[in-house]
Amino acid sequence: MTSSSQNPKLRRFEERLHHQQRQLEHTMLTAAKEGRQAMAEDTLDVADQAVLSYQKELIFSQGTEGHSQLSKVRLALERLHEGTFGECMHCAKTIGDKRLEALPSTPYCIECQEKIESGQIDDVVRAA
Ligand SMILES: [Zn+2]
Repeated sequence: MTSSSQNPKLRRFEERLHHQQRQLEHTMLTAAKEGRQAMAEDTLDVADQAVLSYQKELIFSQGTEGHSQLSKVRLALERLHEGTFGECMHCAKTIGDKRLEALPSTPYCIECQEKIESGQIDDVVRAA
């Protein structure tokens, strides 16, 4: 049996991922609340409205970014339970420990991540 609770290294990743998940959920909740508040202000002069629309954009992008990060964290936790954590989702190679330490929620090895960033392959997680 190779359950994550028996592997101290995996258990540590699991704790970090749970922590990240809680933080992201909190950030997104706050962003959603601020967004609603900003939308409620409709009696402002032009300068205020410019600031406001910038803030709305910022809040929106935080929410979107938070959402895609959150799906990666959730996916990583699923993969931990399935026993596939630490395997690149694209080429199935083992992701280096250093990379996982720095970014426990990453589903890709460094080579595939670079290819995704340069548009050579699709990010299946983001597309999902
Ligand atoms: Zn890979």
